[in-house]
Amino acid sequence: MDTFKRQFRQNQITLVVLVLAAATGTSALTTWLTTAELSLPQRLKDIALAVSITFVAACVSLYYTVRLQIKYLQLHLRLDEVANTDDLTGLPNRRSFVRHGKHRLAADRASQKKLGLLMVDVDWFKRVNDTYGHDAGDETLRHIAAMLQQAAPDTALVSRLGGEEFTVMCEGDSLEEISAIAEALRRKVESTSLAYKREIIRTTISIGVAIAHDGDTLSTLLSRADKALYEAKSDGRNRLALVA
Ligand code: GH3
Ligand code: MG
Ligand code: MG
Repeated sequence: MDTFKRQFRQNQITLVVLVLAAATGTSALTTWLTTAELSLPQRLKDIALAVSITFVAACVSLYYTVRLQIKYLQLHLRLDEVANTDDLTGLPNRRSFVRHGKHRLAADRASQKKLGLLMVDVDWFKRVNDTYGHDAGDETLRHIAAMLQQAAPDTALVSRLGGEEFTVMCEGDSLEEISAIAEALRRKVESTSLAYKREIIRTTISIGVAIAHDGDTLSTLLSRADKALYEAKSDGRNRLALVA
């Protein structure tokens, strides 16, 4: 996005310089060509006057043009943010995860580190809705999103895939390091609770861990993490399962 903004700024500067140069140049030339019968000092005076008037008019029109362009840019950035953010938790949504996940996977091929994909699913989440209500369920999802973000490394990509499922994409020097990250997330959610109205809501998460290999696509990596998650669920929940 920064490159986009830089490019936008560069385009606006180019527009201003070109319009001012073209307008004042044309004005000077036409005045010079249409005042051949006058003395040189008078012609120069006329040119100075014409160029000044053109310059002021061009500046006013550029001011409104650039202002409009900036409004369009702000609208574009806002739309981009809305399209890529989950409005309940504020995390990147599935669309954003897919876009950035693919980039990370491509970058991983050149990296010495291992790339892990953690598929996180809240345990027995339907019971939270059934017991405390849907609003409490929403608040619980916000709480879990915040806990995941707190416990994940700064460079991890934490997203909400949909429903009560989240993904965390992170790098580590080894399989053990990535498992340790997943275990830290699990423990963080297990050890914290949410005070909602007069209730204390406790939840746990299960995590399927998959490590990226050569030839993996985001889809194959996701499907391995999903398989591992299924194992973690059938082994009793509130745990991780790993597919190397
Ligand atoms: P498991 O341990 O097997 O994952 O059980 P679970 O109850 O978590 O799984 P299940 O798939 O049966 O239920 C998921 C529930 O999540 C059902 C759905 O109503 C709820 N849910 C999905 N998205 C939202 C949401 O945005 N807000 C709320 N409050 N509930 C949601
Ligand atoms: Mg689920
Ligand atoms: Mg669940």
